[in-house]
Amino acid sequence: MRRGWVKASSKPNRLIQTLLFALLLSPTAQAFQVQHGGLSVSYSDPRDRLQLGTVFKAWDAAARDLKALGLPPPTQVRIEAASSAADFARRTAEPANIAASTQGAVISTQRLTALALSGRLPLTIRHEAFHTAQPAGIPRWLAEGLARTFSGEAASDPQGPTGLSRLSSDALSEELLGRNPTRLAAAYVEAARRTGQLVKRRGWKEVIKELGKL
Ligand SMILES: [Zn+2]
Repeated sequence: MRRGWVKASSKPNRLIQTLLFALLLSPTAQAFQVQHGGLSVSYSDPRDRLQLGTVFKAWDAAARDLKALGLPPPTQVRIEAASSAADFARRTAEPANIAASTQGAVISTQRLTALALSGRLPLTIRHEAFHTAQPAGIPRWLAEGLARTFSGEAASDPQGPTGLSRLSSDALSEELLGRNPTRLAAAYVEAARRTGQLVKRRGWKEVIKELGKL
């Protein structure tokens, strides 16, 4: 009788324990969430809280600059910071050297503290802000090049040849979409070089106006 009772009560307990454990291990489990206007940020590493001020400041400046260009970001955007590099890879299937990835109005990033330590946090937020606001359907090389020019990342690009200057625009887009970790960095530099020249020649407003017609 007693044995039967113990068995009957331990089963649901085990089930609850298993569910709790699964929730803790779930790649989508986020321990913390904060709201800043239309921007929500969720993160798992409590130390990431120290980076929220930097994130908000970079986001606000990017949103203001994008709006001035006639490209306001969506009113609701979510930043989901991974708990580790492995967590980021699991969520996005991106190569390890990628800082963030945006799908619509959802920005997935590496752990905020990791981005801050490598000096990439404000530029990454600004880069991804551009992606949330860019016109739908623009070619990948243009989207990445403009995001890197807008963010300021392109300003510290290496000056030497990328080895990709002869690629057509379509081939460059394919190179970026291929996500080959050893060639991706050069493809980003090449895309930024081409869009940088475009922006220099035509000006941001004119380029953005043309994008709307693509
Ligand atoms: Zn990008």
